Amino acid sequence: MTSLPRPSRRAFLAASASALILPRFAAPAFAQSSAGDVDVAIIGGGAAGIAAALKVAASGRSHVLIEAGKRLGGRAATVEAFGLPFDLGANRFARTESGLADAAEAAGLPLVNVPSARRLYLGGQQAKEGQYDDFAAAIGRTERAIAATADAGRDIGAASALPDAGVWTATVAAVLGPLGCGRSLAEVSTLDLARRDPAPDDVTSAIGVGALLQRLAAPLNVRLGAKVTRIDTGGRLAVMALEGGGTLRARTVILAVPAAVIAAGAIRFNPPLPARLAGAFRAYPSGLMEHVGFLLPGNPLDLAPDELVDVKAGTTPPGALYARVGGTDLHVAVFGADTAAEIAAKGEPAGLALARGFLAASFGATAAAKVEKVAVSRWSTDPLIRGAMAVGTPGAGAGRRAFAEPVGRLTLAGEYTSLDGWGTLAGAFASGEIAAERAIRVTGGPA
Ligand SMILES: Cc1cc2nc3c(=O)[nH]c(=O)nc-3n(C[C@H](O)[C@H](O)[C@H](O)COP(=O)(O)OP(=O)(O)OC[C@H]3O[C@@H](n4cnc5c(N)ncnc54)[C@H](O)[C@@H]3O)c2cc1C
Repeated sequence: MTSLPRPSRRAFLAASASALILPRFAAPAFAQSSAGDVDVAIIGGGAAGIAAALKVAASGRSHVLIEAGKRLGGRAATVEAFGLPFDLGANRFARTESGLADAAEAAGLPLVNVPSARRLYLGGQQAKEGQYDDFAAAIGRTERAIAATADAGRDIGAASALPDAGVWTATVAAVLGPLGCGRSLAEVSTLDLARRDPAPDDVTSAIGVGALLQRLAAPLNVRLGAKVTRIDTGGRLAVMALEGGGTLRARTVILAVPAAVIAAGAIRFNPPLPARLAGAFRAYPSGLMEHVGFLLPGNPLDLAPDELVDVKAGTTPPGALYARVGGTDLHVAVFGADTAAEIAAKGEPAGLALARGFLAASFGATAAAKVEKVAVSRWSTDPLIRGAMAVGTPGAGAGRRAFAEPVGRLTLAGEYTSLDGWGTLAGAFASGEIAAERAIRVTGGPA
């Protein structure tokens, strides 16, 4: 079997909770915060919040990491499915351009490289080298066309900027749109997409990426099950009100919840967010992506551990496949946009039908018939998450810069604040570190 090179320099497939985290993968016991005031409060315990809290803690400032859910990790969540660790969200990330891999290695946590090559299937067969070259060239041409449109100052729906890629047109649109950012390209800003250029995902962890983040966060001062409903930054200290009563106070706040949570008005701000920033949140709705995990015993597709397989778009909804996770029988199909919305709404029955249809069309009926049960993610309907990543709408592509500007005592962090790494774990982690640097600067003296 030929191993083929990546079709593009770009990690265009930023591809990919309701299940219980079972004891084997359970989070370590966290230090729970006491009621005292702190230098820095970090709201949201995903990659961005954890990165921020680690950096603040290392500086000697006092901190509390406030998480509404029962676990840390946010859109990186490892659950047990079929007796194996299954990442419902981010399941790999870029080693470079992020402190995450360095932090994991320093903490002695296991990392493993994933194959840099991606495989391509069409009509139930692996693509021939020439077909793969055509596909890779089509991706490159499309990315250049989108960049040229943005450079010319035309911030329009990326679908209108697509060159004719012949038989690959629909596949390229799926890989860059629903499977790359969870939205149809007609709904994605050329400017926002052109700026996105994260390093390729090249590393994962045998314990699961969600479990990796939880272990990394072990030394932090954490409040789990604490949902912030209001942030008052008008006084000497910022005051955060929690659902069900109680407040926490801090000299400065890093807000690392998903953009969609803020856009939905789940947190009230006093004073209110500046109108321009509030407008930017409205113009960055969520792309939707969901994972469907299943066992394919005996490696019937003859794939290598952790390979990522692209598939020519056809009659079934577009998907991609993470094969043989960690060398096991676990395979994970990723779906985006409307298909992801269907999985989140209907759960396992929808995931099973979609996975079987996708496998039958991409690899043949024999593989599809082997799938008996699935486990699915449901990010899009989780009120604490509300989607996979924030994506700029046509005409609003310049708005992402607004998220990087501090608002008084408040600094925003999260995947959506990264100009070139939005929608990625590495981008989220780096954004938390940047926010922490500012918080450390503004809290120069003791609390
Ligand atoms: C299916 C899927 C697959 C993906 N695959 C990949 C991949 O392979 N590689 C990659 O790089 N990226 C991937 N991503 C993207 C990546 O997971 C995200 O970019 C990243 O995890 C976002 O981190 P974050 O810290 O910005 O936000 P989150 O991880 O969402 O963290 C935000 C936290 O805020 C908490 N919160 C919300 N509201 C409140 C409140 N009011 N008070 C307190 N806490 C609150 C939430 O519970 C959550 O824990 C994937 C995403 C999805 C959905």
